[in-house]
Amino acid sequence: MDDATCTCGTVKIALQGDPIMRVECGCTSCQTAGAAFGGVLTQWNTTGYALVRKDRALLDTGKGHLRAHRLTPDSGTRRVVATCCGAPMYLEFEKGHWLSIYAARLPEAARGPVACRTMTKDLPESVVLPQDVPNPKTHTPGFMLKLLGAWVAMGFRTPNIDWAQEAAG
Ligand SMILES: [Zn+2]
Ligand SMILES: [Zn+2]
Repeated sequence: MDDATCTCGTVKIALQGDPIMRVECGCTSCQTAGAAFGGVLTQWNTTGYALVRKDRALLDTGKGHLRAHRLTPDSGTRRVVATCCGAPMYLEFEKGHWLSIYAARLPEAARGPVACRTMTKDLPESVVLPQDVPNPKTHTPGFMLKLLGAWVAMGFRTPNIDWAQEAAG
């Protein structure tokens, strides 16, 4: 698939093969982070991602320009931002075998179509979602199975991705 690049082009993540899936997430954490970062929330307050295998993602350029943010200090989830231009690049569950690349980092033609909008129970009540794809309230068993299937294909390995510096505080 296409590379993920920051807005100014300094940071480039090369992505091989097809993503595990493309989704939009409506969870509270994604909404909070998206509002703080800017530029990633859809008109429905969801955030688009391409979920990719960690063993198929390579930091091509921009080493030293990535900083990890956690919503709370003990959170196991990091959102990694390019320090050169402020573009959020990806979200990572540290123990996970996949990266959630912000769809906004991909060329427009590579962002969709999404398989579903997940965690929609957290969206504001005023949001009316289109019915073009499933809009489950939480992560469905099918969603978890797709992630598990990718892990099986990876031989249950969880590659270590340590491209980003931790933000202070
Ligand atoms: Zn940049
Ligand atoms: Zn989310």
